[in-house]
Amino acid sequence: MSAAAFEFASANRIIFKPDAVELIPQLAADRGQKVFLLTGGNPQRASRLQGLLEGVKLDPVVHSISGAEPTVDMVEQAVAAARAEKTDVVIAYGGGSVIDVGKVVAAMLTNDGELFDYLEVIGKAQPLKAPSAPYIAVPTTAGTGSEVTRNAVIDSPEHQVKVSMRSPYMLPDVAVIDPALTCSMPPALTASTGLDALTQVIEPFVCNKSNPITDAICREAISIAGRSLRQAYDNGTDLEARTGMATVSLIGGLALANSGLGAVHGFAGPLGGMIHAPHGELCARLLPIVIKANISALKEREPGSEYLSRYKEVACLLTGDRESTTEDLIKWLEDICQHMAIRGLAECGLSTERISEAVTKSAKASSMKANPVELTESELRQILIEAM
Ligand code: NAD
Repeated sequence: MSAAAFEFASANRIIFKPDAVELIPQLAADRGQKVFLLTGGNPQRASRLQGLLEGVKLDPVVHSISGAEPTVDMVEQAVAAARAEKTDVVIAYGGGSVIDVGKVVAAMLTNDGELFDYLEVIGKAQPLKAPSAPYIAVPTTAGTGSEVTRNAVIDSPEHQVKVSMRSPYMLPDVAVIDPALTCSMPPALTASTGLDALTQVIEPFVCNKSNPITDAICREAISIAGRSLRQAYDNGTDLEARTGMATVSLIGGLALANSGLGAVHGFAGPLGGMIHAPHGELCARLLPIVIKANISALKEREPGSEYLSRYKEVACLLTGDRESTTEDLIKWLEDICQHMAIRGLAECGLSTERISEAVTKSAKASSMKANPVELTESELRQILIEAM
């Protein structure tokens, strides 16, 4: 079932190491003098890194973007600030939102024009002509794996849609992963980002675009998630569990950038544009419900499908029990969502009146096309009703 022809691209260099932050000043100095340091809504979290950079006379210009997912305006401001400083090196230290902004900033330093020249769907979607400026991505959440993917997701409230800017040139130069940076995540953030990471290793494994490399790394990551997700949620300072989830997140990025996704992301993208709820929360709520619908549709329409064997394999890897069934998989996911108090879509801001709009938009999403089975409009609607 895995593709016979495939490509595998990633960040130039991946460093996964406790205290890896200490390596960043040298990595930056090797790449230039003018450093632009992007942080999230709480720049204090990056103060250690800022101090380390100042210690080697690299006085970074710090630009913080608010805690929310990045909008067109926020990205344009960051690009203008980095261009004004004649930046040599971009460092992004934060969650997927900050890492995504860093990709755009690094790309726009070496490519002329405006953001809308390069945005998909609402812009001109022009290809980037030049490689990005040197870019070091440092994730502080364990969810998106954005440090090794080639796109940035940007929200346009004006168009009510989340769109990507995408290019192989946007793969970061160096991804620096220090799992201890995620220990400060509160339980709710650990839950939503962790389930986002889990989704990103299950969907590329059970989709119509998988390949032998993504299969191998997803198998490993699903099993790590089975041992780490609940532990990281229950005890945020458990470094072994945090290391596990940082690994799952990284592998999720590698997998989604080189395989496909599925209906969870098919819904999460359009819903994020419509209701501006955090991406991780949407994925978390949809994961068990989408998998249940996929398994039911496959059993009904393609009972001999290899995708059903794959879901059974996911069950065994997650539970650590070789006898597990697809029913056990659904139960494992439902239990962990309940344990981690995952909110329904209504609480995330989706009104019943907007379900039809969400179904229409999601049916057209590119991730939906990689789903292991084509879901009917009524099945899509049913998923959202159940997720409310
Ligand atoms: P996020 O970056 O939006 O951060 C969520 C919140 O967590 C913010 O308030 C942030 O300040 C806080 N935070 C970050 N690190 C923390 C820490 N260590 N301790 C405490 N709080 C911390 O969340 P995310 O889930 O990492 O990223 C979501 C974004 O990534 C969305 O915009 C989504 O569309 C995008 N995304 C991109 C890709 C890609 O491949 N480019 C893939 C999936 C998702």
